[in-house]
Amino acid sequence: MTNTIHLDKTRRTAFSDRQILDTLGKVFGFSEFRPNQEGIVRAILEGRDVFAVMPTGGGKSLCYQLPSMLLPGTCMVVSPLIALMKDQVDGAKANGIRAACLNSSLKPEEQASVRRDLLAGSVDLLYVAPERFALDSFRQLLGQINVGLAVVDEAHCISEWGHDFRPDYLSLSALVELFPDSPVAAFTATATPKVQDDILRKLSLREPCTVRASFDRPNLFYDIRFKEKLADQLVQLLKDNSGRAGIVYRTSRKSVNETAAMLQSKGFRALPYHAGLNDDDRRRNQEAFIRDEADVIVATIAFGMGIDKSNIRFVIHADLPKSIESYYQETGRAGRDGEPARCTMFFSRSDIPKARFFIDTIENETERAEALDALQKLVALASTSVCRRKTLLDHFGEAYRRENCGGCDICVGTRETIDCTVEAQMLLSAVARTEQRFGAMHIVDIVTGSRNRKILDFGHDRLKTWGVGREKGKKFWKQLIDELLAQKIVARAEGLYPALYLLDKAVAVLKGETTVHMARAQEQEKKPDKAGRGTAEESCDRELFELLRSLRKEIADEQGVPPYIVFSDRSLRDMASSFPVTAEAMLSVPGVGEVKLERYGRRFLQLIRRYREEHPESSFSP
Ligand code: ADP
Ligand code: ZN
Repeated sequence: MTNTIHLDKTRRTAFSDRQILDTLGKVFGFSEFRPNQEGIVRAILEGRDVFAVMPTGGGKSLCYQLPSMLLPGTCMVVSPLIALMKDQVDGAKANGIRAACLNSSLKPEEQASVRRDLLAGSVDLLYVAPERFALDSFRQLLGQINVGLAVVDEAHCISEWGHDFRPDYLSLSALVELFPDSPVAAFTATATPKVQDDILRKLSLREPCTVRASFDRPNLFYDIRFKEKLADQLVQLLKDNSGRAGIVYRTSRKSVNETAAMLQSKGFRALPYHAGLNDDDRRRNQEAFIRDEADVIVATIAFGMGIDKSNIRFVIHADLPKSIESYYQETGRAGRDGEPARCTMFFSRSDIPKARFFIDTIENETERAEALDALQKLVALASTSVCRRKTLLDHFGEAYRRENCGGCDICVGTRETIDCTVEAQMLLSAVARTEQRFGAMHIVDIVTGSRNRKILDFGHDRLKTWGVGREKGKKFWKQLIDELLAQKIVARAEGLYPALYLLDKAVAVLKGETTVHMARAQEQEKKPDKAGRGTAEESCDRELFELLRSLRKEIADEQGVPPYIVFSDRSLRDMASSFPVTAEAMLSVPGVGEVKLERYGRRFLQLIRRYREEHPESSFSP
């Protein structure tokens, strides 16, 4: 029933570099593209299909919003999250893009008005939900308008292999037939090759320009600490981050409620969020967070999917996440504006049995094995001394080549390490003497001198290494084994009997040719440092920044939009360090385009002028 919609072929004119850069500056207020954006924008403007995999915060929306301003007709964006559409439309409108959305949350008269605008050709950017796209009436409407570009956002929803499969997305395979003359661009932040192939096949893109961005998020600082007195640790961390927005993830509803109440009692503006709250409370709490009225949201993983807040400055995992994928997705919500943000996980080995307990209730054997494997990888990430960033990217199949990332607790050395070479030798020799046929627990039992049944049956109490490490607890030895695994000194056999076996490096360790270091276990944390409060922030005038923030909030409330739609944190910070007092200077602030200058510029300029008069001693570059 697909009816093909042909466009006027003459429309595909070439766009000059000037035009493209002008639009980037005037509309979005940016002076340069982020990695990969330019290539994607050009491909679209040349009429090519695009398939792009970019991490959260990579700047996907600009890749189609910019072309929507240059191409004739309307750019149609299919997006699964109705909750996010309004935000995206508000954001685009704030930059002067004629944007609208069509979805079931609109009243009939609102829908009619959008239709009228579409028919009049006065919509540059239209967001629709996939179920809308499947409707005949909507197809008819499409037949009457010019669709210059079709975009599939969150394209992984078309794949059954992905984590958010939406059956409605399958109707999108009709796009290329429906718009034979317009480019189709698909975007996703999901990295697995299986899902990617599936998307390409289902959408039948025509020799697409394919872009796979690096998944590295250089502005995020990763920090994993021992969880000891969680409440005190949280309070300290939130004090270090006072006045900034952040999420605290917990696994259960009960712990969410308790933590939120505890933080409130200490005077923090914190609110809970989980699936057990009624819809109204949930919505209200989310809204308060988005509008900068609450600083902290304490939530289960139910929180985050539907929010686009770009100025989240920290994400804290107070419990173990489910897997490295979910950890990366959840931490990925921090710092979407590209400003420094901090991701802290509190890790305790005593959380492992709880996680195991849930895994053991999974009935399907393959799923259970996968969940267990995911847990093991996460524990390895948390408990070892390998660069966090390297471990994370490694997990997504991306090699990170720098020796020191400068953005994790391991690389900046806030984590104390101890030399465990001798202990490592004990473990390795126990592995060797038992012919590499036993698992981690048994090896630990040997070095700690256990007399359990299995040890006695195998006669392992007669080994030379039996009991050599008895003065150290099992916890220590388990941590060291994780360390040896992460440093690729030993490996674990796959399958039912995960015996440990020695890798090449083990020989060097046994011979004393290399040393092994590991994080100092438990006890005291070092005094929390202020890393993550990046230099950009420190060099700006805090007082002015706070004033600008209040003004932003005031304007946002007047207009009924979230504050970050008015200006990003980054824009405010730049204003608070460059002190612009003329329209021209204001335009050179990142994120300030012509429309925003016209709408908000006067009030911000006034504030900055006044501040300068009152603080003549403030440093500023005229
Ligand atoms: P994604 O959809 O990929 O998660 P967004 O499109 O929401 O990312 O962009 C994330 C943030 O990056 C936004 O705050 C946006 O304004 C900013 N951004 C996008 N492109 C640029 C650019 N070229 N220069 C500076 N900031 C940018
Ligand atoms: Zn690192």
